[in-house]
Amino acid sequence: MISRPAAANLTLDLPDLKSGASAAKVLEKILQRRESNMSIDKIGDTDVYISGMYAMRRPQYLEEANITHVVSILRGKMDERLFAPYKHLHVEVDDEDDENLLEHFATTNEFIDNAINSGGSVFVHCAMGISRSATICAAYLIFKKQIPTETALDIIRETRPCICPNLGFREQLDLYYQNLAQAIENLNDVPAYQRFLYRKEVEISRMADKAPTITYWGQDESPTPNAESLKCKMCRRTLALSQSFVDHTPKPPVTATSRDIAGTSGPKATCQHHFIDPVVWMRPELEKGLMEGKLECPKCNAKVGSYAWHGIKCTCGRWVVPAISLARSRVDEVRPRPAL
Ligand SMILES: [Zn+2]
Ligand SMILES: [Zn+2]
Repeated sequence: MISRPAAANLTLDLPDLKSGASAAKVLEKILQRRESNMSIDKIGDTDVYISGMYAMRRPQYLEEANITHVVSILRGKMDERLFAPYKHLHVEVDDEDDENLLEHFATTNEFIDNAINSGGSVFVHCAMGISRSATICAAYLIFKKQIPTETALDIIRETRPCICPNLGFREQLDLYYQNLAQAIENLNDVPAYQRFLYRKEVEISRMADKAPTITYWGQDESPTPNAESLKCKMCRRTLALSQSFVDHTPKPPVTATSRDIAGTSGPKATCQHHFIDPVVWMRPELEKGLMEGKLECPKCNAKVGSYAWHGIKCTCGRWVVPAISLARSRVDEVRPRPAL
């Protein structure tokens, strides 16, 4: 069977033993299950199949499914002889939350689509057929059917219940779905993707105790005059637009005093920071390569905030990492005027 669910596992059912089944029978059952576990699973109404690397050593499955193309999503050198009968695409990524699989979606989607349009079928595999390959298959379903991540994963789960993309990959699928038209056109033009790259860069640099090299700069000029923004209290220069705002959940108050404060004006009242992503006017400061520093208004030089790549503890008690902060006392919040 090709599309049998791969959920069957290798554990031994106790009733098998209780019912007095012979050891040989039990062993046979285990082997049968192991075989079905290694089958390849058809995804929905597509000609895309998914499984682990082991299926490459079962050419009969691939033959039954009329596989013509194979996508391998795993790092390392592979035995080329196994792939010789197929058109082969090899994407080298690890199954880690911080791997960028999103940047490969355009390539894998095009490869899969071309294979199907030419009358073939595609086998997508990683090591176990659980995280990386499921992500690539979900990206293809999102691309073809314009469906949200969970709907795409549900379609795959129908025949392969064991799939479980890691959290980083799920976020990348969501980002892809939420910006689909623009991502298909040119992923690098998607602001949310640039933000994603910026966060990855900060994370990697932070672990190496280095200041990040920033390539994502938010704008400080809006085409709409009353856009939601933060302005310098002293000179009214716009310092950040709402696209650059970074939300954090204020830490719930624990003492009676702070509960009283929160009770009267809401927990946000205890936050004396506006956290934001890098904005273009900060370039001279943030490109100094320091781990932390002060931020001055580029027009009047008033002190407006600070930054720390290792994070800042907000006055509400919550750590925000990384942190670029504008002090609430130094800026005015501008909200769009309601339409008349
Ligand atoms: Zn706070
Ligand atoms: Zn100013």
